Amino acid sequence: MFKKILIANRGEIAVRILRACRELGIKSVAVFSDVDRKALHVQLADEAYGIGPAPSRESYLRIDKLMDVARRAGSDAVHPGYGFLAENPALPRACGEAGITFIGPPPEAMEALGSKTAGRRLARRVEVPTVPGANDPTDRSQAQALAQSMGYPVLLKAVAGGGGKGMRLVYSDTEFESAFRNAASEALNAFGDERLYLEKYLERPRHVEIQILADAHGRVVSLGERECSIQRRHQKVAEESPSPIITAELRKKMSDAAVRLARAGGYVNAGTVEFLVDQRLNFYFLEVNTRLQVEHPVTEQVTGLDLVKLQIAIAAGHRLPFAWESITPRGHAMEVRLYAEDPENNFFPSPGKILARHTPSGPGIRMDEGVYEGWTVPNDYDPLLSKLIVWGNSREETMARLRRALDEYVVTGIRTNAGLFRRILAEPEFLRGEIHTRWLDDLLRRPRAAAASPAAHSNPVTDPNAAAEAAAIAAAVWQAKQNARQASTASPVNETSSRWKMEGRREQRDRMP
Ligand code: ADP
Repeated sequence: MFKKILIANRGEIAVRILRACRELGIKSVAVFSDVDRKALHVQLADEAYGIGPAPSRESYLRIDKLMDVARRAGSDAVHPGYGFLAENPALPRACGEAGITFIGPPPEAMEALGSKTAGRRLARRVEVPTVPGANDPTDRSQAQALAQSMGYPVLLKAVAGGGGKGMRLVYSDTEFESAFRNAASEALNAFGDERLYLEKYLERPRHVEIQILADAHGRVVSLGERECSIQRRHQKVAEESPSPIITAELRKKMSDAAVRLARAGGYVNAGTVEFLVDQRLNFYFLEVNTRLQVEHPVTEQVTGLDLVKLQIAIAAGHRLPFAWESITPRGHAMEVRLYAEDPENNFFPSPGKILARHTPSGPGIRMDEGVYEGWTVPNDYDPLLSKLIVWGNSREETMARLRRALDEYVVTGIRTNAGLFRRILAEPEFLRGEIHTRWLDDLLRRPRAAAASPAAHSNPVTDPNAAAEAAAIAAAVWQAKQNARQASTASPVNETSSRWKMEGRREQRDRMP
């Protein structure tokens, strides 16, 4: 096992990773830019090294500085987290040259799967359905001819795009030419690469993604899906698992497709295969994220697995001790991304000093965060403050808990988007799971209903909160009965974790000199 892991990241994900290191008895090394000197990840790590000025291209994106810290600190592995260099094959290559283990996929697998167009090509080869469109970057006239034959609307995407950026929706042929020109120059400015490709724009799809784990010995498993359809401008803001629409059969089909693709790309470590699912439950491959996702905790909560520890174990050469059949989601989990931003002012970032805060706790609550009272949130990075993750026995219980947790959450000094989630949780469509990737944008365009006065006798049929409450009580009672019935039989998750432990002990024994 490793002795000292360098965490090439900041914020909540750096804290998440160093916590896993501490539980495994591995020392953690943090890096920080000038504005992050007092950040939580710096305070919690075993060692911390400054890597330069605030702009990330002068600090968190500098592979040479990271490698220098790794050498000075004597790190034997690097965890990239997400964002920054996590999907840049130059980092695993630099690690390889320095004789340090990269906790993530090999650079070749990143290239084969991480590039959107390469991923699409590989998906077609292994018969994973892709969103209809051009497989290779196309020039303007080729792209327009294809758009005409597919029919509008179409989506122009920057080959090098990501994070919901670099996409342009085109509704008609007349606007195509100028849209293409503008999208290409925007892509060049933002990503240094003007190449575009084209997809049919799917109306009201869901975003459903499959978490996979692959070890270096050929085992690839799916840990099931996450529903990520709650998005603002194509960026996820809330996620859940299981998806309200997924049946065991569809989960198996999507998992098979994801595993097939990962195998074809020679994938190792944790990765996510993203799909769009249309209203008839057809699914289409979107892209592979060759790293840990922001929303990985919902999968952890319903599988009982620790993905960061498993990433570390895989990188150290361990075998995955379970097959996908043993992974059955237990209960329900949701995550909301709490940002320092102002929902009243078009979600403009709202960095600044956190004067006071109270974080939710109690049954079913997990906060993954990188902030503390008195800390000044810098405006140089993504303004994600905390991820509030909630789980319960049922979707209804989880939503009731999330509502309760958001009521407990208080931050002063900066603005946050917590109110957005309270609003989402009051929407009957959300409560019924009837969502799609444009649902939140549509909701935000609607005028907000005046706050309802509390009714003396709420009617569960017309009052969504009362309906959720009744369902939550029913679910709690049902779960208690289930637990009583299953008392004598081990659940698949327990079985998995005890097998994992046994396997761990066996490996430890085998490795002893
Ligand atoms: P990024 O890498 O920038 O996140 P993705 O290709 O993963 O881009 O897409 C992000 C989101 O954009 C999707 O979850 C979905 O909401 C929307 N989207 C992407 N492609 C399509 C499409 N062909 N039709 C409809 N929506 C799409």
